[in-house]
Amino acid sequence: MGLAEYRRKRRFGVTAEPSGDEKPRRKRSRALVFVVQKHRATQLHYDFRLEWDGVLWSWAVPKGPSLDPSVKRLAMQTEDHPLEYARFEGIIPEGEYGGGTVMIWDTGTWVPEVPDPAAAMAKGELKFQLAGAKLRGSWVLVRTRPRSPGGKPAWLLIKHRDAFASPEDIATMQPRSAVSRRTLAEIAWHEGGNVEKAARGDPPAEIRRLLANPKLVARRKKGKPAVWRSHRSGS
Ligand code: MN
Repeated sequence: MGLAEYRRKRRFGVTAEPSGDEKPRRKRSRALVFVVQKHRATQLHYDFRLEWDGVLWSWAVPKGPSLDPSVKRLAMQTEDHPLEYARFEGIIPEGEYGGGTVMIWDTGTWVPEVPDPAAAMAKGELKFQLAGAKLRGSWVLVRTRPRSPGGKPAWLLIKHRDAFASPEDIATMQPRSAVSRRTLAEIAWHEGGNVEKAARGDPPAEIRRLLANPKLVARRKKGKPAVWRSHRSGS
């Protein structure tokens, strides 16, 4: 797919999202990255991304991943994103493409369960293992037939039965950032976004807990960039 569509949709002088111009310094030995970004845009959704061949394959999952193998979550494939996007947590300005608050809800590494992931993608069935803070074990993404002729094919994200399967509603039970421990509302507050809109993407019980005891609200850190820098970014 490449990054042409990604770049066409965005104005990099306005949004803090990465342009993808940074040369991917891919060490052969480095594990493949995955990230799930909780994104409070027009509609709340979870962007599920898997690193492959220098980009992030991407799907928008409206309800987020489920640990329950009997639950199939709709996943609409979206444009490939640059690798650096896996470290983006912050605000996309209103009026820009995807305007709203972005949280790194989970991140870690992934391992394909197939010898040729690109061929598996083309075929429409990709099996893989995740090693994240919240999502672990074996999963599959399966492409379905378009509902109407010429319609966009939908994918389904499904947890396989293993030791990491669970009936727990992980999106509600673990709503905070995997890297900064912040809610969407706290990210929006810190980074100058729309706090009220962001808060509507947090579980109401979590917001009530913060309102009942405002001392629990994470402090704003001065001078922190919108882009979350991992230990391996070197900048
Ligand atoms: Mn999104």
